[in-house]
Amino acid sequence: MTQNTGELAKDASAEQNIKAEQTRLIYRSMPFSLLAILINSSILSLVLWRVIDHSTIIGWLVAVYLTTLYRFLTYRNFLSITPTQDNEIEHWRRLAILGATLSGALWGAASLLLFPLEHVAYQALLVFVIAGMSAGAVTTLSSIFAASATFLLLTLLPFVWRFLFLESDVGYAMTAMSILFTLIVVISSKRLNQSIQESLKVRYERQLAEETIIYQAHYDELTQLPNRRLFIDRLNQEITRAQRHQHFGAILFLDLDHFKNINDSLGHRVGDKLLQQVAQRLLHRIRNEDTVARLGGDEFVILLTEIGDSREITSSWVQNFAAQIQLLFTEPFRVQEHELHLSASIGVTLFPINGAVPEDLLQQADVAMYRAKAEGRDQSRFFLPSMQEAVHQRLEIEKGLRRALAAGELELYYQLQVDITGTCIGAEALLRWNHPERGLIAPNEFISVAEETGLIYKIGDWVLATACRDMAQIGFNRPITLSVNVSPKQFREANFVERVQNIIHGCRINPAHLRFEITENVLIENFEQTVARMQQLKKCGISFSIDDFGTGHSSLAYLKQLPVEMLKIDRSFVRDISTDPNDAIIVETILDMARHMGLKVVAEGVETQEAFAFLKEKGCEYFQGYLFSRPVPLQDLLCKIESSAA
Ligand code: C2E
Ligand code: MG
Ligand code: MG
Repeated sequence: MTQNTGELAKDASAEQNIKAEQTRLIYRSMPFSLLAILINSSILSLVLWRVIDHSTIIGWLVAVYLTTLYRFLTYRNFLSITPTQDNEIEHWRRLAILGATLSGALWGAASLLLFPLEHVAYQALLVFVIAGMSAGAVTTLSSIFAASATFLLLTLLPFVWRFLFLESDVGYAMTAMSILFTLIVVISSKRLNQSIQESLKVRYERQLAEETIIYQAHYDELTQLPNRRLFIDRLNQEITRAQRHQHFGAILFLDLDHFKNINDSLGHRVGDKLLQQVAQRLLHRIRNEDTVARLGGDEFVILLTEIGDSREITSSWVQNFAAQIQLLFTEPFRVQEHELHLSASIGVTLFPINGAVPEDLLQQADVAMYRAKAEGRDQSRFFLPSMQEAVHQRLEIEKGLRRALAAGELELYYQLQVDITGTCIGAEALLRWNHPERGLIAPNEFISVAEETGLIYKIGDWVLATACRDMAQIGFNRPITLSVNVSPKQFREANFVERVQNIIHGCRINPAHLRFEITENVLIENFEQTVARMQQLKKCGISFSIDDFGTGHSSLAYLKQLPVEMLKIDRSFVRDISTDPNDAIIVETILDMARHMGLKVVAEGVETQEAFAFLKEKGCEYFQGYLFSRPVPLQDLLCKIESSAA
């Protein structure tokens, strides 16, 4: 339906464009035809002076001159304006037809009034002039057929009439010839008119296609905003201007928070509509001289020009502006029946910066935007050189990590978990990266990179397979459980359960000795799916503990529905437990709650005897921390298990 309307509108505008061109063509040839009229009418009058009544000639000639003058003035007026509106074009078209009609009528009048009845030679001259004028009209007036046809019929039919009334054989012959001639010129004019229309149409379509190609190369189809290419182009110009006039501008890099969730849950159509609405809000907020562009996905950039003469003034102005952009998102968006709440993270960088090309600036704003996201989203951050360094390090880690798995640089360490008597009840598998230059790298430095790049899937498989193999070495005759950390992204992967089952079957271990540590973050998103997955894994024999408990947002209501066996109190609460009353209260509350719900509790990060004693006193039964053992390689773990049992 919309497409049909669009097609109709396109056809209408094509027709209008062709009409305008036809009108332009007829005016363009007007000087030539007016000159021909002046010359021909003057010569004709001069020659016929001897055989036709003078007052008739003068009257006719004056009428011709006046008409020609009128047409010339119309032509001059047309040149001074460029008609674009449909009604304007129609007006000038009508004037052109009127001029042709007046001229045609006058030439038609010539064959009636200036016909030298007695003088065959003069008749021949008149025939010759009128035939010449008609032939000329075919070339100059055919772009508008109404003009040429009227001119030709008005000019030639009186001639036919005239010869008919001669009532002689020659007269009849001339009548027949004139009719034939009239037909030929009118048909030729029609043909010429059609071919002019066709070539104008072809030209218009080609022009339209070129414009479309240019438009598509510079604008985003969904939002109609400039795209990256046009943005870079404008930014380039603005950098040069800013350098020349010594003022500052800014780039704001905007990324919508959690847009992917909306897209995934409500579909791309809703996502697209939402992006269009965001584009509109941004467009309304910026000044005329600024640019807002869509780089792709949910990324927008704003180019602010000529803000201030100093960095300080510019910074504070932009800070304020970024806050206002954030305010644009406080009002929910309405798409179909949905009310959508959205926020944006914004990265800002100022320009000009010595030697920085547009791509550098965009990258800086992008880096700052990432920082805004990492620090909790829905906020803006200015770019700082230290951020670049962090980005560089991340890239290095990403590059190295890709190699690490294949090169066998990853290792599993184990940290003992003990009961109240110090007897080993299990161990937590902790990943280490044995970097060829940097030595052992702790997982906090690379797990998030592995998650972002998707490397976590392969790494997670490796960790689980290695832990299973090591478990076989520990043996299954002792009540020892190995805990393996599972990252949220890994857990949410579509075929996570099958992967785990395959690995377990491959290693032939008893899954009752395996525990997955998941964080509260896993529980927050897509709760039903999480529960279903946990239940499937529990059926295989695997148990679960909630890692870093107390740092997230999980509520009791959540916990009750989960097949969880154990909570791990985060070490941030345990560290100062004997000195910070707040931490002590939190730990006590967790212990109470767990007792009521029948959950086991492991306290992480137990480093001192005081903490150990305090936890024991409050009823904690399981412990993990440097006090008992640091994370160690498998061989050391085996020794520790032996000595703990002894
Ligand atoms: P986590 O699961 O909470 O692991 C406990 C962390 O606390 C370990 O750090 C451990 O070395 C440290 N720790 C244990 N006892 C003490 C103590 O008494 N004092 C102090 N200060 N620290 C203690 P690590 O090995 O650096 O691991 C950090 C985090 O990296 C882990 O936190 C876990 O979230 C993640 N991680 C480790 N291995 C894996 C893995 O194989 N897969 C995934 N997805 N994440 C992993
Ligand atoms: Mg853990
Ligand atoms: Mg932990």
